[in-house]
Amino acid sequence: MERSPRCSRHPEDAAAWRCRACGTALCPACTDTSGGRVRCAECGEVAGLLTSPGSEATLDPAEAIAVDVRRGDLRAAAARFAALPATPTTLPARLLLQVAKGAGGEGAPAVAARALRSAARSRDPAIAAEALLGLARLCLDGLRRPAEARAAIDELLARFPESPAATQARALHPPPAG
Ligand SMILES: [Zn+2]
Ligand SMILES: [Zn+2]
Repeated sequence: MERSPRCSRHPEDAAAWRCRACGTALCPACTDTSGGRVRCAECGEVAGLLTSPGSEATLDPAEAIAVDVRRGDLRAAAARFAALPATPTTLPARLLLQVAKGAGGEGAPAVAARALRSAARSRDPAIAAEALLGLARLCLDGLRRPAEARAAIDELLARFPESPAATQARALHPPPAG
């Protein structure tokens, strides 16, 4: 069986790019995409695709975030997510919960809220309920948006009244609107 190229630092992961300066084979976790191009995270130089080294490299942001989460680097996942203009439709809702955790831990509640709003649209009831609960908590504490907190709690109680998240949400007591 033909083996795909491996990352220089993470031999268990496939590499899709090579740094044009230092020659390192790069997996998504070894890239910096914050500027909209794929760069070597080590030296900052632009990377080329391994399959066609001359062409401009592009990175599937959902794939890169998945790699960050798998490594337990929620901070990096949150930073990648924050740099995106919109939530990628290919990003699974369970990863959005992890991104929100990373962003919340980094003191970026607005980024966490964006991830949670997307996760709340998941078809998986457990994930959607957890996302709504997290959103309500963020809006009460970090964001100080009681109206949005109340809306998230109302949606949670209406959609998933029997869920453990709903039980916790009933105890949150947002201040009344107005
Ligand atoms: Zn490099
Ligand atoms: Zn790597």
